[in-house]
This record gives sequence, C-alpha cells and structure tokens, in this order.
Amino acid sequence: MRLIILGAPGAGKGTQAAILSEKLNIPHISTGDIFRNSIRMGTELGKEAKEYIDKGLLVPDELTIQIVKERLNKDDCRKGFILDGFPRTIPQAEYLEKALEEMGVSLDVVLNIHVPDEEIVKRLSGRRVCPNCGASYHVLYNPPEVEGICDSCSHKVVQREDDKEETVKNRLKTYHDQTEPLIDFYRNKGKLVTVVGQEKLEDTTSNVLKALGVS
Ligand code: AMP
Repeated sequence: MRLIILGAPGAGKGTQAAILSEKLNIPHISTGDIFRNSIRMGTELGKEAKEYIDKGLLVPDELTIQIVKERLNKDDCRKGFILDGFPRTIPQAEYLEKALEEMGVSLDVVLNIHVPDEEIVKRLSGRRVCPNCGASYHVLYNPPEVEGICDSCSHKVVQREDDKEETVKNRLKTYHDQTEPLIDFYRNKGKLVTVVGQEKLEDTTSNVLKALGVS
C-alpha cells in the first residue's frame, strides 16, 4: 500500500503510521523524524532544518523534497510506504506526483486525521516522546507504564522543544495556511479518506483500520 497521512501537528499521524507500518510491513517515513535525527547527529541538514523547526515554520520545500527523494529511492519502498508529515505544501505534493509517476506507481489513499484546534493544543502540551526510540506518549491520555520512562526502551521521555506553547501556535497557523489546502488537492483526485481523531488512541486506530479496510 502507498499511503499518505495528513493532519495537524499532534493529530496522531506518527502514532497511526507506526501501527500501520507494523501491520502492513511497509516503511514509515516521517520527515519530522528524519530532521530530528539529523539535528541530533549535528549534520548540515540538521543545522539548517533546526532554524525553521524551532520557530514552528516549515523547512523549505527544496531541502525537504531532497530528503524524501533519497528515502523513496531505497529498496524497501518498492513494496509500499507510509508518508507521515509529507507532503505539507502543494509544491511538495506536486513533486510527489511526478516522483511516483517516474517510479511507475501511484498512491492508494490519503488518510486525513481531523482533530479540532482546541484539542490539538491540549494534546501537544501533554505529549512526551522518547528521544531514543521515537515512541510517543501523553501524560493523561496515553502515559507510559512507569511515569517519565519509555515502555519500549526504558529511556527517559521528554517534551519536544517545538511542543512548547508559543511554537505550537505557529505550527497550527502554518498548518492552516500551507498544509490544509492539500485536503482539497487530494479530495479532487478522489484519494481522500477522513477519520476524526478520537480522545482514546485505540478508538482512532480502530476507525483508521476500518476506513482503510485493514484487519
Ligand atoms: P513533525 O514531526 O511531522 O510534526 O515535524 C516537525 C517539524 O519538522 C515541522 O514542524 C516542520 O518544521 C518540519 N517538517 C516536517 N515535515 C516537513 C515537510 N514535509 N515540509 C516542511 N517542513 C517539515
């Protein structure tokens, strides 16, 4: 399956992508994770991306498209992939159309996870992530078994720098201005499926699986 997951920051794209990736045995490609790894490793890409990420802005299309291009060329993407957080602008979506055409494949579905803004702010302020393995938690809705410690790898969980309040506001504005137009873009192509993100993670997952016809 070739799938895009769309949605505001904190809508649950990464969590659902990880679940689907395991179920369908296809790679989960998160541009946000690629940038965060590059920042951690101190690469040039990381340094450049950090300037934008810390302000709640999008990394420029040219840079983002380059990393996706390299990732999609890897062998494991031949059997399918889940794009989480890409595309986020119309030019990125247009690039993707062309790239897939060159690969001789097409998208199966674009899953849009809808969550209202007030709920997004609540979610992001309580989100905690594991900097070691990438697992994601919420202090109220989905806490780790031992407070502050990752269930999967026992590392200490942290709040993402860009989940702080001021940056969250900018990220939401960026989402509405630049990413939301993709909903119509894919609706017009007949690829869009929308699921409303629920308070409980399991409920969203079950709606997502139903909407995609995955058991
Ligand atoms: P995410 O983990 O998907 O919320 O991404 C974190 C941050 O990385 C975003 O707020 C952007 O600054 C940047 N980013 C991730 N994906 C993209 C993209 N497709 N285009 C531009 N910037 C991106």
